[in-house]
Amino acid sequence: MTLCAVAYAIYYHRRGDAVHKKQSAIIIAATAIPGIGNAINVLGAHLLSFDMTSILLSGTCVLLGYSFLRLRLFQIAPIARDRIVETMQDAFVLVDVQGRFVDANTAAKKLFPQLAVARVGTPIGDIEGVSWLDEREDAESGTFSLQDETGAPRYYSISKTVVFHQHKVICNCIMIYDVTESKKLLDEVSQLAEHDTLTGLLNRGTFFKKGEQSFREIAAQDGSMSVLMMDLDHFKKLNDTFGHLTGDQVLTTVTGKLSAEFRDTDLFARYGGEEFCAFLPHIEEADAMQTAQRLREIVEATDWGGELADLHVTISIGVAAYDAARHYTLDEFVRCADTALYAAKAAGRNKACLYCCEQDDKSE
Ligand code: GH3
Ligand code: MG
Ligand code: MG
Repeated sequence: MTLCAVAYAIYYHRRGDAVHKKQSAIIIAATAIPGIGNAINVLGAHLLSFDMTSILLSGTCVLLGYSFLRLRLFQIAPIARDRIVETMQDAFVLVDVQGRFVDANTAAKKLFPQLAVARVGTPIGDIEGVSWLDEREDAESGTFSLQDETGAPRYYSISKTVVFHQHKVICNCIMIYDVTESKKLLDEVSQLAEHDTLTGLLNRGTFFKKGEQSFREIAAQDGSMSVLMMDLDHFKKLNDTFGHLTGDQVLTTVTGKLSAEFRDTDLFARYGGEEFCAFLPHIEEADAMQTAQRLREIVEATDWGGELADLHVTISIGVAAYDAARHYTLDEFVRCADTALYAAKAAGRNKACLYCCEQDDKSE
């Protein structure tokens, strides 16, 4: 019986972690000592003139007393800690200093089923599906995405912590957190902060924030870029005649049609009420004018149909091509396109006009 108890305690001692090892060693000793005493009594009774059992039992009591007071033998904290790691939602993977797999909790095994069958000591780089954990050896944090069972992406944040024991690195603890919900929330917030709610276009602030960097880069290269400033004609009258809701509908339809004409690299923003601005990288003056004419024609040719059959919507467009002597900032560049827009309005509306410096005098 004693032998079975000792064997079981040894088995646990070998499997246990650093926290449990001391405790299981005490249990082995406390179980074995009375057994050894018994064996001596039985086998070597003729050698000793007294019964050793009581002396050895006293030793066991001292040992248990010491471990109870100093090693917190019966404290449940380590067991509770184990339970928490096993049941927590976040995945946890332990890798030794040589990059070999040591341990993973249930969440990690669910996320990467290969970990459930991986043998302790396997280089993490050799475990299919998680080898990239090894590639990120020096990275302390990062993000990645995986598809869930429905094929939808889920986003995870990863953080690595080096675990020290007695001033020596003993392993790397990799924590993997599911951040899908907070990422969705952040995306929604940034969508709201960067876009206009009615048309879904970039708002003015984002236009300048994103455009300024492109502007500086292109200005330092060949300077080939243009800006278009657009304004719907007689929009106040349209609102007064057809109502504000129809005005909103016109704004969304027109911007939808214009958006389809721009490239992914262009920036198209709602500049103000019925005014829009586009920054076109790598587009020269002649092409910018051609684009403006095409956009103007698209708006003019829109068939509003049904109740709005009488609606006739047009747009005026000011075009400015980059001039290194005049445009030191994107703001100045946009102002020149605005001056050209003023000229287009003055020329009778439903026009595209190219900026020239003489327009400055007339717009003042
Ligand atoms: P112009 O040809 O000179 O540009 O004349 P306009 O009437 O278009 O210009 P004005 O600046 O006098 O009027 C702009 C109108 O646009 C006034 C404003 O009520 C309307 N507006 C601005 N934002 C919105 C919006 O979000 N929805 C609607 N329906 N109307 C808007
Ligand atoms: Mg207008
Ligand atoms: Mg206006």
